[in-house]
Amino acid sequence: MNVLLLSTYELGHQPFGLASPAAFLADAGADVHCLDLAVDAFDEIAIGAAGLIAIYLPMHTATRIASMAVPRIRSINPSAHLCFYGLYAPLNEAYLRTELGGGTILGGEFEGGLVNLYRRLSSNGPAFDAAQSDPLISLAKQEFRLPRRDGLAALSQYAHVDMGQNARRTVGYTEASRGCKHLCRHCPVVPVYDGKFRIVPPQLVIDDIRQQVDAGAEHITFGDPDFFNGIGHAIPVVEALHAEFPELSYDATIKVEHLLKHANHLDTLVRTGCLFVTTAVESVDDRVLDILDKGHTRDDFVQVIKMAARANLTLSPTFIPFLPWSSREGYLDLLRLLVDQGMVDYVAPVQLTIRLLIPEGSRLLDVEEMRQHLGEFDAAALSYQWSHPDPAMDALHAQVSAAAEAGDTEGATRRQIFGEIWRLAHAACGLNPPSLDLPVALDGSDHKPCLSEPWYCCAEPTAKQIAEF
Ligand code: SF4
Repeated sequence: MNVLLLSTYELGHQPFGLASPAAFLADAGADVHCLDLAVDAFDEIAIGAAGLIAIYLPMHTATRIASMAVPRIRSINPSAHLCFYGLYAPLNEAYLRTELGGGTILGGEFEGGLVNLYRRLSSNGPAFDAAQSDPLISLAKQEFRLPRRDGLAALSQYAHVDMGQNARRTVGYTEASRGCKHLCRHCPVVPVYDGKFRIVPPQLVIDDIRQQVDAGAEHITFGDPDFFNGIGHAIPVVEALHAEFPELSYDATIKVEHLLKHANHLDTLVRTGCLFVTTAVESVDDRVLDILDKGHTRDDFVQVIKMAARANLTLSPTFIPFLPWSSREGYLDLLRLLVDQGMVDYVAPVQLTIRLLIPEGSRLLDVEEMRQHLGEFDAAALSYQWSHPDPAMDALHAQVSAAAEAGDTEGATRRQIFGEIWRLAHAACGLNPPSLDLPVALDGSDHKPCLSEPWYCCAEPTAKQIAEF
């Protein structure tokens, strides 16, 4: 039976969420075809030939795009069994079953469930619609396989590292672990993994990196929710990476708390080729950080900035500035802190525009501070609605979002976009903006290495993505 693994969007990366199950399914005897709608044409022949179509939903944006693609997929192939898998699948189970016709929903460690589904369908036919036998969320430890990447588009078609001055690096992507041992209240990993994480054997991680280097990768993004959840795993992986590929650079996501706790390894990261670390700061307001249960404070973030500067490690902080508990003054405070700490060039402008999303199952739903602001669950938007007590915050959100988008379209620098956001934030507070006197970098460039697709998983689909369907 033909199995079609389909991805809609994975932050500009070649999807690990297709390559890994492709290996499991091929080993089980399936005829597997991969289709990544982020870069591939809508392949009607492959869609029409599949007995099982499994759609990968690792994040909000991917799920929103999938909801637009499914009617077209169904019109081509109404009889295939439809499966949704990945982090956002179990969170949106009801919507995916009733609105999109999903027959099987798999979250957590989904590869084993996909293989079981393939075997059941192979024995009984695609029309077989007995109740799902695999759990909605599996955290079973599974024996990972080397991802199969031969059915995917070339790495050069995906996001690259922008090194500045027209230099770029081709990016590969792998995962050394899944899940997370922390329980941050706003995080979509938590309702699925509930404080647990699973590691991919180090040798398999290196083997996957090697096949991507052979395919042209000059940089690897580790997509682990938090790379330092298992420090005893992460450090040997990057040491082995550097020993075999001394020219290869990489990036990873590491929380503030872990950067502080493992400060002795910041040098290790730099020495082994780490180009930058994404760190989810979310807020510089300690009350907000407390509600989110982030495990760090404003002072911790400032301390990490200084430690990273000493280690020559580039930080790429992410934020959620628009939450029910943030204020116009608080937003200005965030901008001032970034100026005072010399971080303006390190923050992707889109990070100053993010508004809290609350998926089904979010731990925030348990918190009284959140319930006060909560509206209905909007199934199509995949999020609970909430309104800000200060309507001027919603207006500011719209203004800074437009400024970031316009600046991006025009090719403005981070400094230039920040300057406009700085002006808007002061105006929202009825203040005249003081002039921004940002220091000139020692190397004469204000550009910091970054992925050409900024890290944020909660964006609405773009006009171009919508036009596809
Ligand atoms: S540390 Fe990161 S991945 Fe882990 S629960 Fe918190 S936000 Fe989620």
